[in-house]
Formats: sequence, C-alpha cells, structure tokens
Amino acid sequence: MSAALRRGRLVVGNWKMNGSRASNSVLLDALKASSPFVASVAVCVPAPYLRDVAASLGSSAIAWGAQDCSSHASGAFTGEVSATMLAEFGCRYVIVGHSERRAMHGESDRLVAEKAAQVLASGMTPIVCVGETLAEREAGRTEAVVARQLGAAIELLGDTIAQAVVAYEPVWAIGTGKTASPAEAEAVHASLRARLAAASPAAGDISILYGGSVKADNAASLFAQDNIDGGLIGGAALNAEQFAAICRADA
Ligand code: PEP
Repeated sequence: MSAALRRGRLVVGNWKMNGSRASNSVLLDALKASSPFVASVAVCVPAPYLRDVAASLGSSAIAWGAQDCSSHASGAFTGEVSATMLAEFGCRYVIVGHSERRAMHGESDRLVAEKAAQVLASGMTPIVCVGETLAEREAGRTEAVVARQLGAAIELLGDTIAQAVVAYEPVWAIGTGKTASPAEAEAVHASLRARLAAASPAAGDISILYGGSVKADNAASLFAQDNIDGGLIGGAALNAEQFAAICRADA
C-alpha cells in the first residue's frame, strides 16, 4: 500500500474565478453521479456560490471550501471575507497562499500564515500553497523557496500546523500544461515532509497535495509517489469527467 493511501488520498478542485449558478449545478450533479470516490474529494469555489454549493453537496460525500479569506477576524476591511463567514456556509477547506494571490495581490509568507491561522481558528482546514517560479527553479532555489514559505506558516501556527494540508504547486506548472515529473514533485514533497516532521512530530504525517496541470492521464503516476497524498486541481476540476477520473486515479 502506498504512503498516500495510508495517509488517505485527498483531491481538491480549485474552480478559481469560474462558473455560474447554472453551470455549477450541472458540474456538481455530474460529480455527485460519479461519486463516491476512494479519495476524499472537495471543491473550493468562489464565495458567492457557497450557499448553492452547500445545498447541492450537503447530502453527498463531497466537501466544499473557499479559495481565500481575510487575515483579520472582522472589521473595516471592505471587500474581504472572513474565515468565520466561510465557516457559516459549511466550508471544510480554505486555500491560502495560492500563487495567483501571492503574485497578483502581493501576499507575503507572513500574511498567508495569518490567513491559515484564521482558518484554523474558525474550525476549518487551511490548504497552504507553496511553490517556486521557473526562475527560482532554474537557479536551483526550489527547496529553499518552499522551505521559506512553509517556514512562515510553521513559525506562526506552531504545533497546529499538524491540522493543515500543504499543497506544493510549482508556479511554472499552473495552468501551463507543464507538470513536474513525478520524481521532481516527489523530491520537493519529501523535503516539505521532512521540514514538517522536524517542526512537530504529528505534522510529519499531514497531507501534502501536488498541484500544477494535473489531468486524468498524469494523476496516477504523481499520486503513486510516497509523499504525494493527492492533488489540488485547477483547470481539470471544471470538467466533471476529467475531475472524476482524477479522483479515481489508481496509484
Ligand atoms: C491551481 O490553480 O491550483 C492549479 C493547480 O491549476 P491547474 O491544475 O490548472 O494547473
């Protein structure tokens, strides 16, 4: 049995800023019709759709979540959505530190850690994203970059990092059709797991997902790696057949 299956496979769809109430309903109906899956499955959706998604998935085994939250609990932060608001809609997961937010919204490692702390304080699971750019990889800095990003979360969360999920998403592989090879991804996952285990014994066993152009035809080889416990899926999560095939991928 692979380590991923021992820890439990988790596949999370990140819809990004896509969808409509009508198309979401079609997508979720098709996904529910394909379930149950051996993997635990969740979809992280735009916040305005949470009420609909909760109503649709409430009686299914598919969990749901959000793609970001504020680093503050409440107050004068126009346009922001707090973790406690997301929890009211039954979210199980909140993605924090996605590379699109780090790049387009200037989110720092510390801010991402603060968001993760808000998610945990509201009883949900943060999916803490880390990943290097192409320039950083080519400069041989991949492990240093992800260690720095993860280190900020470990520093702020302490032992509670053991209640988080980590997603390794090389920036150069997101939405590009380029995937890290299973061996390249595994090397980074192993380094992340070692860093987590050194921080707190329980944290050594948390789920570490791979994200970056995962499709039905490459999921199984990625998920077969010892330290890859599942995937964070962008584009392919918008297609029920593709996403269901990834959720069923056999390692
Ligand atoms: C993502 O946005 O988290 C992602 C992994 O996207 P894609 O699967 O499209 O590369």
